[in-house]
Order: sequence, then structure tokens, then C-alpha cells
Amino acid sequence: MYNYRNYLIFLFASLAVSIGLQMILPFPYGLAAALAIFILLPLFIRRRYMSKVKGYGGDSGGGGFFGSNSEGGTSVKYVCLTCNHRFKGAMCPRCGSKMKRADF
Ligand SMILES: [Zn+2]
Repeated sequence: MYNYRNYLIFLFASLAVSIGLQMILPFPYGLAAALAIFILLPLFIRRRYMSKVKGYGGDSGGGGFFGSNSEGGTSVKYVCLTCNHRFKGAMCPRCGSKMKRADF
């Protein structure tokens, strides 16, 4: 579920940033900033990941719509190409022709 490799990349990036911060900032502030990054960054990543999952859920809902669409396809009407009679089923009940096209 959770993208662990991505998390490690972010972790190393935050480690590099925290080392940089401790070079720039004096001792107590640099350490506090580094700790803040280590605590806040995973939360930030998780929140972003959760929003991504929500987007995916919307996509699967579209799949559900697709399924209902094909369900409607079972009751599709056809138009006979020989006599232009509208009918349901495999062949035309008027002339017995199997030549047909779907009528929407
Ligand atoms: Zn026909």
C-alpha cells in the first residue's frame, strides 16, 4: 500500500536538509528544525498519498458506470438491413434476415 521506496527518498532528502540546517542555524534551532522536518514530512507524504487514493477511487467509480453501460447493451434494439424493421433478438421476425445494425 504505502510506497516505501518513495518514503526512503524523502527521508534521505530530509536528512540532507537537516544537516544543511544545522550548518546554517546555531545548535538548538538547527536540531529543532531537523526534528520538525522528520516529524512533519512523513505526515505530509501520507496526506498526499491519501488524496491520491481518493482520486483513484473516483476512477473506479467511472468503471462502475462503464459496467452499467454494458448492462444496458443487453436490451439494445436492432434495425433490419433488409426490410428496415426494428426488433430485439438475433434475427428479424418479419423477414428472417440476420443482417442488422444496432439502433441507439
Ligand atoms: Zn427484416
